[in-house]
Amino acid sequence: MKAAVLKTLKEPLVIEDVPLPTLGPKNVLMKVKQCGICITDIKMVSGVRPTGNLPFIIGHEGVGIVEDVGKEVTHFKTGERVLMDPLLSCGMCLNCSFGRDNMCESRRLIGITNETPGVYAEYGVIPERNLYKLPDEVSFSDGVLINSLLSPAFHGVKRMDFKASETACVYGLGSIGTMTILALKAFGASQIIGVDINEQALKNAEKFGLDYVINSKKEDPVKRIRELTGGKGVDVAFEVVGNHETILQAIYSTRHGGRTCILGVPFYHVVIDFKDALGFFHELSEKEASIIIAWGYTRQEFPMMLNMVKKRLIDFSPCRTKVIPLEEVNEGIKWTGEGKYTRVIIEF
Ligand SMILES: [Zn+2]
Ligand SMILES: [Zn+2]
Repeated sequence: MKAAVLKTLKEPLVIEDVPLPTLGPKNVLMKVKQCGICITDIKMVSGVRPTGNLPFIIGHEGVGIVEDVGKEVTHFKTGERVLMDPLLSCGMCLNCSFGRDNMCESRRLIGITNETPGVYAEYGVIPERNLYKLPDEVSFSDGVLINSLLSPAFHGVKRMDFKASETACVYGLGSIGTMTILALKAFGASQIIGVDINEQALKNAEKFGLDYVINSKKEDPVKRIRELTGGKGVDVAFEVVGNHETILQAIYSTRHGGRTCILGVPFYHVVIDFKDALGFFHELSEKEASIIIAWGYTRQEFPMMLNMVKKRLIDFSPCRTKVIPLEEVNEGIKWTGEGKYTRVIIEF
């Protein structure tokens, strides 16, 4: 089968013929139809994220059609359209038993952890437990967007126990920020305010159904959010940047009793200036602030997301996807890094 193989770090992927992976008894052979290109893939190619032994086939955002099933597979049959969940969890540890498999003690990821090759390839072998049927109403590209970008945003909104008619603000309007807007709309948000410093990102995010946009380079977002919410602040603030300044701004944007969800991960040494520690902790105490981190997604969220996309409660039409053949994978990686598209998707 044809695959794009990572042979040398910092070098383009090499397209070549590789043997078809062997099908274990509990596995499904998936004929890959599409696979998203993720920032994680770029980090692996550039060596920022360790990959282990090379050569290795990356790619964890796959959708496809069941080509063959192992002897013990009971839930799938040839010809079915499927979406893969790359997270290999044990189902046995304490976190798994609480339904928090995003924190499984033996967590591994298809196409990321070295011993489990990914799906920048015509076929992939996926454990039955990691597949979900794609309803007819959900396109392959919708499946890629669910797997890649909606999942962490949806998990964040779920984790905040977001209630219909609540208000929200979203700091950072890139791909996951815009997915957070879509999830908030589906959960019945009455007001969504978007904040970014990039005029193009603000313009693009408006299409996703924001009530207000704030360019935080031009005006103080906390002050503006308070003005837009009758002086109170929002019920829930989402931070999707991973920057210590926006984390603080998000916290300050919430009302008394409000909640802050941190979806962004700072990738640098953060020094929080506690010169005004009293002021900061006074603010937190006085409004009994909840600050919650959301990380990844859980298995139980896939059927929910699939249903909501099927019913068009979540509508991906404002997303900008670019579909490319496998031969253009290296250009696709470059475009992903430039952030021009919601997702660049390889199609087979
Ligand atoms: Zn990904
Ligand atoms: Zn586990």
